[in-house]
Amino acid sequence: MATKAFAAQSAASPLAPHSIARREPLATDVAIEILYCGVCHSDLHQVRNEWSEFSPTTYPCVPGHEIVGRVTQVGKDVKKFKTGDLAAVGCMVDSCRHCASCTRGLEQYCEKNPTYTYNSPDKNSGGVTFGGYSDSIVVDESFTLKVPAKLDLAATAPLLCAGITTYSPLKHWKVGPGMKVGIVGLGGLGHMGVKFARALGAHVVLFTTSPGKIEDGKRLGAHEVVVSKNADEMAKHRGSFDFILDAVSAEHDINAYLALLKLDGTLTLVGAPEKPLPVAAFSLLGGRKSFAGSGIGGIAETQEMLDFCAEHGIVCEIEMIPIQKVNEAYDRLLKGDVKYRFVIDMASLKA
Ligand code: NAP
Ligand code: ZN
Ligand code: ZN
Repeated sequence: MATKAFAAQSAASPLAPHSIARREPLATDVAIEILYCGVCHSDLHQVRNEWSEFSPTTYPCVPGHEIVGRVTQVGKDVKKFKTGDLAAVGCMVDSCRHCASCTRGLEQYCEKNPTYTYNSPDKNSGGVTFGGYSDSIVVDESFTLKVPAKLDLAATAPLLCAGITTYSPLKHWKVGPGMKVGIVGLGGLGHMGVKFARALGAHVVLFTTSPGKIEDGKRLGAHEVVVSKNADEMAKHRGSFDFILDAVSAEHDINAYLALLKLDGTLTLVGAPEKPLPVAAFSLLGGRKSFAGSGIGGIAETQEMLDFCAEHGIVCEIEMIPIQKVNEAYDRLLKGDVKYRFVIDMASLKA
C-alpha cells in the first residue's frame, strides 16, 4: 500500500513529503489509519543522527512513535481488534518474543533488540521500519494497544512514549505515598512524570530551567517547583530525595541532582542527550546512591499505563500542529518551548 509520509533524507535536511510502502496485513496484523502522532524529542535526535554511536539513522527516515488511529483492516487470525476500533502503537512493533526479557513482558529490553517503530531493520520488508508521521501503519496485534474510550484521542497519543517512559520507572522504583520525588525538565516526558508521580501519591518537586513554567508545574501536579539555575533553592533540597527522574534532552550537570538524593536514593535517567554526562565518583559514594536508566516500557505495562490514565483522567497537555509545521516544532523543542507535547493532526497530511 502506498502511504503518504514526512521523511528526512539526511541528518541536515528538514522533514518533507515522501511516499512509503506499507505491507498488506498478514494473518495477525492490524492496519491502522493514523489520526494523531506525537512529536517526541527522540524523533529529533534520530532524524538528526545525534545517536550515531548507538543507533545510526538510515535515510530516508520517517519518525513518529506516539500513534493513535482507527483500524481499517485486520488479518484473518486477529483476535483483539476489528475494523473501526481505535488502536495505538508506541515505540516498538515487534521483538524476538522468546528471550528472558520478552517472556517477562520486558520487550523493550529484548536480548535481540526490539524492532522499533522506526529506524529498525524490518523483518517483513527487509528494509527499515517507518514511523507515525504517515497516513497509515501495519502492526502485529501483539504490539498494538487498546485505547480506552473515554480519553481524548489527540492527547492520548503522547502517552505511547512520553507516558510509558515515565510511568515505567516510577512503578519500578515503587514511587508512592511518603516518598519525595523529583522530576527534572518540564517537557513532554517531564510533564507526564509530574502527573504520574502525583497520581501515585508522592510529594513531587519539579526542577526546571524555565522560570516561565513555575505556575504550569504546580497546575500539573508539582507540590514545589525549583528553578534549577538558582543555587540557593537547590541547596535547600540537599540530601532529601528518595527518587529523582531526569527527563532532560541536553547536556546538564547530573552531579547537582545526585547531591539532592538521600541515603540509598536513586536518580534515574530517561533523557537521552547526545553527549555523555560526567558523574563524579563522590557524588555516589557518600550516601550509597544509585544512578540508573530506564527505556520506554513493555507492551503489557503500556496497556496498564493507558488504563491507569483512563481511571485517573490523565492525558497529555498538547499543542496540535499540521504536519507542515513539524520542522518549526523541532526548532521550538530545542528552545524548551513546548507546552507540553506537539501532536500532529494527521488529517493535514491528506490536504
Ligand atoms: P522535550 O519535550 O524537548 O523536553 C526536554 C526538557 O528538558 C525541556 O523542556 C527543558 O525543560 C529541559 N531542557 C532542555 N534543554 C536543557 C538544558 N540544556 N539544560 C537543562 N534542561 C534542559 O523532550 P522529551 O520529548 O520530553 O524527551 C526528553 C529526553 O528523553 C530526550 O532526550 C528524549 O530522546 C528522551 N527519551 C527517552 C526515552 C527512553 O526510553 N528513555 C523515551 C522517550 C524520550 P525545562 O524548560 O523545564 O528546563
Ligand atoms: Zn519517544
Ligand atoms: Zn526478546
